[in-house]
Amino acid sequence: MNTTGRDRQFDHAVARAVVLLARARRVVVTTGAGMSKESGIPTFRDAQTGLWAKYDPETLATREGFRRNPSLVWNWYAGRRAIIEQARPHEGHVALARIEPRFESFHLFTQNIDGLHVAAGSKNVIELHGSILRTKCFDAGHPSREPLREAKTPPRCSCGSFLRPDVVWFGEMLNPDHLDLAADTIEACDVLLVVGTSGLVYPAAGFAEAAVRAGVPVIEINPEPTPLSRLADVMILSGARTALMEMEQRLSPGA
Ligand code: NAD
Repeated sequence: MNTTGRDRQFDHAVARAVVLLARARRVVVTTGAGMSKESGIPTFRDAQTGLWAKYDPETLATREGFRRNPSLVWNWYAGRRAIIEQARPHEGHVALARIEPRFESFHLFTQNIDGLHVAAGSKNVIELHGSILRTKCFDAGHPSREPLREAKTPPRCSCGSFLRPDVVWFGEMLNPDHLDLAADTIEACDVLLVVGTSGLVYPAAGFAEAAVRAGVPVIEINPEPTPLSRLADVMILSGARTALMEMEQRLSPGA
């Protein structure tokens, strides 16, 4: 498609999304790694820059991997945290924060562990996969105030176990309260907005399916079609920054 065709398609898709959002009272948003890509944080599956293209997930993001080599895992996450600490929310994060107050109910379920939605000012953020900005006890799971900084070996919890990053690893359960809240709010909402997720990782795929079962329209924002696109009523083929800025502008009073 030529540039003008793409522009027209973008314009049309944003217009349809704005119609759905303008009449919505209850909105659920779910975001994945693509949301933060334009803040300079690589996604998992991006072939060129994706984190797992360079590192083995079994080694770095499982309990077994941590048990085998706690220092490697701790320091790899310390490095990721250092990248994330330099990152700033982009205008798309800010646009989501700005539209939140216009709705009676607004829930933002993010798979990202980078804290950028909160940094942008979003209030009702549920961090499904935890946060790299926090640490917790490896054995008991209780939270710790110890920051995730490079060290020869991970610091110890007061109970003697190692501390670990407070993120959900492969093979670990998500907080069941978060999943219940997602199920309830999706069933009762007027629009589900899915931004920057490949739709391959549970639970994002399940969210869109639940919305479709409940008759809730789904808007997807992603520069590439995904397995979720077939479920979307509106597919905005674009990066999160441009699409969300444009949506927020058109939703603003006087636009
Ligand atoms: P993913 O890597 O599987 O997929 C990323 C998706 O983002 C792809 O569909 C890609 O087409 C899309 N994308 C790329 N650029 C984009 C842009 N500019 N705007 C919008 N979308 C864009 O990521 P996932 O589906 O979120 O699942 C993988 C897991 O990775 C998640 O559980 C998440 O916790 C974790 N993760 C988080 C971060 C972070 O916190 N920023 C970073 C990497 C991975």
